[in-house]
Amino acid sequence: MKTFGKSSTELVQRERERLAALENLDLLDSPRDEGFDRIVRLIQTVFTVDIGLVSVIDAHRQWYKACSGLSNDEVPRADSFCRYVLDDEQPMVIQDATKDPRFLAHPAVTGDTHIRFYAGVPLKTKAGHSIGTVCAIDRTPRSFGRKDLGILQELAGAAMDRMELMQTAATDSLTDALTRRAFKREAEQLIASALRHKQDLACVVLDVDHFKRVNDTYGHAAGDEVLKAVAATCRANLRTSDLFGRLGGEEFAIVLSHTGAEDALKTAEKLRAEIAALPVTGDFGTLNVTASFGGSALSIVGRDIETLLAQADAAMYRAKETGRNRCMSWTALNAAPGTGARRRVLKAGVIIFNDRRSTIDCTVKSLGVDGAGITVSNSAGIPPDFTLSIKADAFETTCAVLSRDRQNLEVAFR
Ligand code: GH3
Ligand code: MG
Ligand code: MG
Repeated sequence: MKTFGKSSTELVQRERERLAALENLDLLDSPRDEGFDRIVRLIQTVFTVDIGLVSVIDAHRQWYKACSGLSNDEVPRADSFCRYVLDDEQPMVIQDATKDPRFLAHPAVTGDTHIRFYAGVPLKTKAGHSIGTVCAIDRTPRSFGRKDLGILQELAGAAMDRMELMQTAATDSLTDALTRRAFKREAEQLIASALRHKQDLACVVLDVDHFKRVNDTYGHAAGDEVLKAVAATCRANLRTSDLFGRLGGEEFAIVLSHTGAEDALKTAEKLRAEIAALPVTGDFGTLNVTASFGGSALSIVGRDIETLLAQADAAMYRAKETGRNRCMSWTALNAAPGTGARRRVLKAGVIIFNDRRSTIDCTVKSLGVDGAGITVSNSAGIPPDFTLSIKADAFETTCAVLSRDRQNLEVAFR
């Protein structure tokens, strides 16, 4: 990393504050948003380039809030061009990547993606933290003048304004469901009240099955109609006291007050049947979708919304694995320790051992309620039992190593 006269402690501090600012915006894995889609389309047309990006970068990955012209939606931070923009907090223009020693051997340059031209500017919060980038990328070399850079910076300013504005929104503009942030905030209040009054409370998550296919086959507008219809069906079948939120693209969550695990599953089953029977019509014709459901309920270990969501999520992933269009309850999952359903993540973690005197940075690559897959630069010296901390989730637990090779560890939580 270039330091430009900054000491390494200053850099560590800067990165910590940057990650806190990013976490505060709650953008990672948030739903697609037409406002950002418009910005990346503008980048493509204004500069006549193949690819436009609005991205955010956490400790380990670059995630595309909006992207046109690329099929993936994230890359490891270490592989991203944009990390240089982030490190220097300055715009970067590469007219021809094959002539730049930093990039000429990069797989995105030598491989099929065939990147030649790159222009990226930092996305800076009002407080001055660079949380991501806005870029124009092309498959042929080109120049980029001062005026072009000025336009790209204006677009980055518009993107940043929208990100900061969206923080205050309580509902999602497409589906009217609560935003992830508002959902969690209100869920915490319901949970606190349920715990205080010793009442039941359950959580259900649902994810539309093969939704990518809907987008690919019928187009994004049809996908959007499906999301609206799914959300409307859920709301029509819930009580007004229930919380209904959109957690991500085609993933929704529900908090049911005064409801135990069994009744939550009945509600999930009703929603599942209603969605499967629902015809969605539009210019594209008529189509049907299904969704997979996972449920969890308040318990001695599940007393906050993050845990309830993680448990419901694990159950939902099991529903996906076992055929989709079905409901699963977390309590009914009786997998062997450490081998339960996992979701693919890229999170910064710390392995803590030796009475907390030793720490090793790691990347958590898969995460379930009872175990994780972890990557380290070198696994030698890591003991069979340690504590794993994931700061972004305020998560810490003791782990036992199930298997390991030089760089990878599979662990069970204890
Ligand atoms: P699975 O059954 O395993 O859930 O497969 P899937 O295809 O539903 O899951 P995947 O996560 O691969 O695809 C989700 C897709 O949802 C990818 C993304 O482009 C799309 N998406 C996310 N947000 C929106 C949105 O607001 N509108 C539309 N139309 N598509 C969206
Ligand atoms: Mg899906
Ligand atoms: Mg999904």
